[in-house]
Amino acid sequence: MSRERDLLAYFESQAGFAVDLLGRLVSIDSPTSDKEGVDRVGTLAAAEFRAAGAAVTSIPQQGAGDVLRAAFGSEPDTTDGRGALPFRGDAEPPAPARSALLLGHFDTVWPRGEAARRPFRVEGALASGPGVFDMKAGIVLCVLLARAFKERVLRPRLPIVCLFSGDEETGSPVSRPRIETEARAARYVLGLEPCNPDGGAKTARKGVGRVIVEVIGVPAHAGIDPDKGVNAIEELAAQVLALKVLQDRAAGTTLHAGLISGGVARNVVAPQARAEFDVRVPAPEEWKRLETSVLNLRPRNPRARLRVEATLTHPPMVRTAAIVSLHEQAGRVARQVGFSLGEGSTGGGSDGSYCAAIGVPVLDGLGVEGEGAHAETERVRLDRIAPRAALLAGILEQVESA
Ligand SMILES: [Zn+2]
Repeated sequence: MSRERDLLAYFESQAGFAVDLLGRLVSIDSPTSDKEGVDRVGTLAAAEFRAAGAAVTSIPQQGAGDVLRAAFGSEPDTTDGRGALPFRGDAEPPAPARSALLLGHFDTVWPRGEAARRPFRVEGALASGPGVFDMKAGIVLCVLLARAFKERVLRPRLPIVCLFSGDEETGSPVSRPRIETEARAARYVLGLEPCNPDGGAKTARKGVGRVIVEVIGVPAHAGIDPDKGVNAIEELAAQVLALKVLQDRAAGTTLHAGLISGGVARNVVAPQARAEFDVRVPAPEEWKRLETSVLNLRPRNPRARLRVEATLTHPPMVRTAAIVSLHEQAGRVARQVGFSLGEGSTGGGSDGSYCAAIGVPVLDGLGVEGEGAHAETERVRLDRIAPRAALLAGILEQVESA
């Protein structure tokens, strides 16, 4: 039997534990805005990691759920005294002190009370409930790996760090610096976000941007003094159409007006109007092109004033040669476990995007197969927990760098 098949057999023997833990995690509501709920998930996860012998640190965050760091797969440096982390296991040289980073999050998009309304349920090989796919099943995978290490089943090549944020669903505004710090110390990052519909990994993510255009006009009576006014709504309408031209579908860049507001009354020339755009870009150059054009917008009506804001909230995760190599190595492991690991891109950003942007190769979407992220149809395949855990374990045993 191959090594990967051994790992698979081990994780299959843990199925009862895995489903039970998944149920406990899903039963705690953890919307991003609810720090207390997110921290309750963190407390539960921390206890599981501690029981599995991991070194666990809770990193307090202001205005968001605390970040949890669980490290295992290396022993305290008692041998060479030069800071190199000794390698556990065979007679190989000590690995340099750089980790494999596993990335997840505790928050979900579901409000408080959702777990009571739509409780965790197992039907055959499927489990449903809020956040089961995005991404409480991914947390279970990490705990399984820590337990496998404790039970001396898993023999990783690098020290393993699992890092969980509590504000991923809103773009990790609070935890992002911590994620980036940890990524800088990593050789590669494995993201436990939901996989693509075919089970494939995510090797590219579009960058996500926000553009705000605000027009300041001049109020006037629409019936008596229309020419004294400057209509901000009319100016904004022209700007919305001008901006839409910047979209480049062939390049993969989309721009879409999602919010618009303005005016004070029907019979008043609108003194103010504002629109907010969602932008998706495949590469940093595309964002540059768009940003430059946006910041150079000029009012059509010279008496109107424009206030323009362009923010890249998630940098694009570009499919670099290193990411391709990481996916190829993971693909070999998957075949040994008994399945094929495809790849694909997605229009959405994640914490993995931040890691990729600082130059660390990221393979994302390594969570358990399922469907319906952010939807009431959300479910996960329980029979895929063991193969996905075996895939991760195999990667950690075989892949030293991208
Ligand atoms: Zn997620």
